[in-house]
Amino acid sequence: MPISKRSLKKPDDLTPQEKLAEAKRICHQHFGAQCPEEKRQGLHQELLKRRPHWSVLKRKEQYEAIDRGEHIPFDIAIPLPARDPRRPEESAEGVKLFWERFRCTHCGKCCYTPGAGLYLEKEDMDRICKHLGWTMKKLKRLCRYDKNLKTWALKQPCPFYDEDEKRCKIYSVRPLTCTQYPLHPPLKEMPYHLAVDAFCPEAREFAKETLGWWIICENRWAQILKNMETESKKGSGADRGDRQEPSQEGGER
Ligand code: SF4
Ligand code: SF4
Repeated sequence: MPISKRSLKKPDDLTPQEKLAEAKRICHQHFGAQCPEEKRQGLHQELLKRRPHWSVLKRKEQYEAIDRGEHIPFDIAIPLPARDPRRPEESAEGVKLFWERFRCTHCGKCCYTPGAGLYLEKEDMDRICKHLGWTMKKLKRLCRYDKNLKTWALKQPCPFYDEDEKRCKIYSVRPLTCTQYPLHPPLKEMPYHLAVDAFCPEAREFAKETLGWWIICENRWAQILKNMETESKKGSGADRGDRQEPSQEGGER
């Protein structure tokens, strides 16, 4: 997942949208390890009492928009920092909290629905064949080759999903993409946040339950923007970008 680099423009030359994008980048870099703990502890509850927030005021519309994922394929950004591939260990807190809270009900929807994560890596194919004592040729009979992506994908419905038992028959060696589901790569417009497939019912519930967490992110962005503004007024003229340590106070508390 590509994480955008620092803007090369001076802060004064940025458009409001570019300033916000820069604030989000700085936020991800400096607070990505800290904010999941604040969310884990429920600090957003206090903030939500202090000021009106769209997650409360527009809850019904938000829920309806999220629930459209049952019929229309799309991904939802969730208020947890995405892992930065340049420093995967230090930036894993968001992913950790997601798996700590996410509750898969084993409904199996992701296993028998077209488009739901069935692409196979070479390692997946080797592992599955070894586990089942199959030849590669035998496994490929259950797959289709995607010429565009130049990769193999299990046919739909997944031949390894046991509908009677409602379980994966190769769970211990299932494809990597299945182990990561419902996490999807971050959205282009939200590159610093995790994204989930809105098709998964429990991912939709997760997105609804965590809408209030956005207030923690938004307060931070506001504080960083304010710091950028102050620095700019001081006339430093220099793009201090990520060299400037944002306030550890965050936003309004
Ligand atoms: S659709 Fe979601 S809840 Fe259902 S099995 Fe897949 S990951 Fe679990
Ligand atoms: S391999 Fe297993 S987990 Fe993956 S889609 Fe098939 S049944 Fe589901």
